[in-house]
Amino acid sequence: MVIIDNFCNSKPEVINRIQKITGKTVALIQGDVRDKVFLGTVFKQHAIKAVIHFAGLKAVAESVANPLRYYDNNVMGSLALVEVMTEFNVKNLVFSSSATVYGFSDTKPIPETAPLSPFNPYGHTKRMVEQILEDLSASDSAWNIALLRYFNPVGAHESGMIGEDPNGIPNNLMPYVSQVAAGKLKELSIFGNDYPTVDGTGVRDYIHVVDLALGHVAALNVLDKNCGLLTVNLGAGHGYSVLELVHTFQEVTGRAIPYRIVERRAGDIAMYFADATLAKQKLAWQTQRDLADICRDAWHWQSQNPQGYS
Ligand code: UDP
Repeated sequence: MVIIDNFCNSKPEVINRIQKITGKTVALIQGDVRDKVFLGTVFKQHAIKAVIHFAGLKAVAESVANPLRYYDNNVMGSLALVEVMTEFNVKNLVFSSSATVYGFSDTKPIPETAPLSPFNPYGHTKRMVEQILEDLSASDSAWNIALLRYFNPVGAHESGMIGEDPNGIPNNLMPYVSQVAAGKLKELSIFGNDYPTVDGTGVRDYIHVVDLALGHVAALNVLDKNCGLLTVNLGAGHGYSVLELVHTFQEVTGRAIPYRIVERRAGDIAMYFADATLAKQKLAWQTQRDLADICRDAWHWQSQNPQGYS
């Protein structure tokens, strides 16, 4: 296995920890997915059968402030990758897409057939790459492509050795809650409690990162059987509110999470969660870890690595 990373939002130390957890040696090559010459040398030097393409920027607010960076990295990077894959006749690809492609969908739970209406540059880049890959698949039946639409990936590996290490103050709920629990941040701001949900706070489909990783393994196995194009939600199939997550985190870890209710965050959707039946049918995959597991593992990671990987 070969990992390529430009480390724009990650640390090389992760590789040591992956090797410790798996007991396997992993080749790590530093480089950028937009650099076709670089990619060509990697494909020349390694016998690659399939690619899992994770190399995307993912902060919504940053994508609004700096859209060109997102189109360049996410769209141009994906184009460069599939061009080089074509050149080397490697035609099995798993792409990290996102539930954000559904936008303000009215259907709950959301099936893969729901209308698509991303509404920020980050979401547009995910949908554009999906479209490129759909067209590529239609043009050449040798391609096997899985578009995996992630819901809200959270938590950390059970060992507490690898987890999320966001730059600066976290934007997302789970790392924010973890840092409040650790005393690094004073209190959680809950963005609105007047949504039409169970307790007024936003509802999301949180999926444990290890379940998410296993979804990729399942997808690779299906690609191997010449499945063509496969578009699948990766989610648990049910939603939890912000307050439910906070309460579960407190129960599981015994740590207090002080919070206050503030204004809604611009662009937030009240509620979304996956229809997860297609993943079960097509990939023989479903989540096995619940919200308590997610909170426990997120806290292991946070408490064992108060400074992240540094
Ligand atoms: N949220 C919150 N406070 C925070 C961060 C997030 O109340 O500091 C809420 C947010 O409004 C949403 C949910 O938590 O209802 C999940 O937000 P996150 O940013 O983690 O994911 P996304 O918005 O991409 O679904």
